[in-house]
Amino acid sequence: MTVIQVKNPATGERIGEVKVNTKEEINEAILRGHESFKTWSNVNAHERSKLLKKWSDLIQNNKEDIARVMTLESGKPIKESLGEVDYATSYIDWYAEEAKRLYGRTIPANTESKRIVITRKPVGLVAAITPWNFPAAMMTRKAAPALAAGCTFIVKPAEDTPLTTIRLIELAHEAGIPENVVQCVNGYGSEVGKLFTDSKYIRKITFTGSTPVGKLLIKNSADTVKHVSMELGGHAPVIVAKDADLDLAVDQTIASKFRNAGQTCICANRLLVHESIADEFSEKLAAKVSELKVGNGLNEDTQVGPVINEKGFNKIVSQVEDATAKGAEVICGNEYNADAEKGFFFVYPTVLKNVNLDMNIMQEETFGPVLPITTFETLEEAVDIANGTPYGLASYFFTNDYRTGVYLNENLEFGIVGWNDGAPSAAHVPFGGVKESGIGREGGIEGIEPYLETKYLSIGNL
Ligand code: ADP
Repeated sequence: MTVIQVKNPATGERIGEVKVNTKEEINEAILRGHESFKTWSNVNAHERSKLLKKWSDLIQNNKEDIARVMTLESGKPIKESLGEVDYATSYIDWYAEEAKRLYGRTIPANTESKRIVITRKPVGLVAAITPWNFPAAMMTRKAAPALAAGCTFIVKPAEDTPLTTIRLIELAHEAGIPENVVQCVNGYGSEVGKLFTDSKYIRKITFTGSTPVGKLLIKNSADTVKHVSMELGGHAPVIVAKDADLDLAVDQTIASKFRNAGQTCICANRLLVHESIADEFSEKLAAKVSELKVGNGLNEDTQVGPVINEKGFNKIVSQVEDATAKGAEVICGNEYNADAEKGFFFVYPTVLKNVNLDMNIMQEETFGPVLPITTFETLEEAVDIANGTPYGLASYFFTNDYRTGVYLNENLEFGIVGWNDGAPSAAHVPFGGVKESGIGREGGIEGIEPYLETKYLSIGNL
């Protein structure tokens, strides 16, 4: 039997293990998911809604335990894990309500002898592949709309953080959602991914993770023409205009950047500051960033935990080394507490200035607590820099001038724009990216659409 060891990224200690499911077990799970679709899709929407609410309640009743497991396996500060449990259930609550609002419509016919009726149908069995940075919420924001729509659901969590997902799926069963309707399988991404994309029973793949893996899943889904929803990488710019409220911009940038140690796909990844305020802004920012408390996420006062693993750590360090070699100045941080043998990797919050576009950090997602600052003269230049990558997930700007705000909103090629707001995520809004940041939206009324087909009935000869 092969197992995946789950480790605490703050200490490197083993905290559990999960069995890697065999190919046969995964194919059986897929078949069970397919076979249970007929029954589940016919459960009435009000009943599905009630079961989802029960699931949400059970998660809330176990909030402390789930948050602790999440911190142990992901390293995120316990306050953020508690917040993530609320965030995760907010998707279940939202889609428990939306389940009852899957309206169809009628269309006036062009002859007296016809009637036209449009209904919405669930797409079928959905397979989800989720990342380690939000082990609870990335799963529920896929599972909740899928189940609400009448789809059956099977998830493969990230190898680094399977325990939170396993617990949440157990609670779904405890709530009364049948075991074959919502399932979890464990294994390595490329192997399980291939079984999912090859299967004719799976009608939709929903994925949150890196852009290269997303592209592979899209390609591999072509043979069976699956629906795909992709929430991929980001490279979020923060534009600070010359009239911005600097204190607000500093606080919101910190909230956006250092949440989950910089490991969210909408984290501020590059700061573009108007040259006239760059020095003042950088000083204010560095002063506050250097006060952030780094440590084990289980300590109540920790604000920045470890980064997830050695691969993530090496990428962050190499971006900082590349930037400093090319002339960037470290104004805060660039310190590390890491031990590859023991298996923990802390990066102290770092701010770099004199950054230019030739540095990798301005072109690639960092996924760590490092913030590069560059300057701009005109808004056009800021927009060009902001749009100048293949990514288009989140963007932020700070200005109190409405013309600047409207201009930036209209010209930024991103799915999400935060105007004086560094925390735009919520269950009731459509979250997702353009360009190579993804396909589709999660959350809001848009977030259930990808789980639905439109069926057109034409009644003739009346
Ligand atoms: P990261 O590099 O941040 O871990 P990934 O995109 O590699 O991001 O991981 C996100 C999820 O994708 C994880 O659940 C992982 O197991 C899965 N994954 C990784 N490689 C593949 C693949 N080739 N096919 C399908 N899923 C994959």
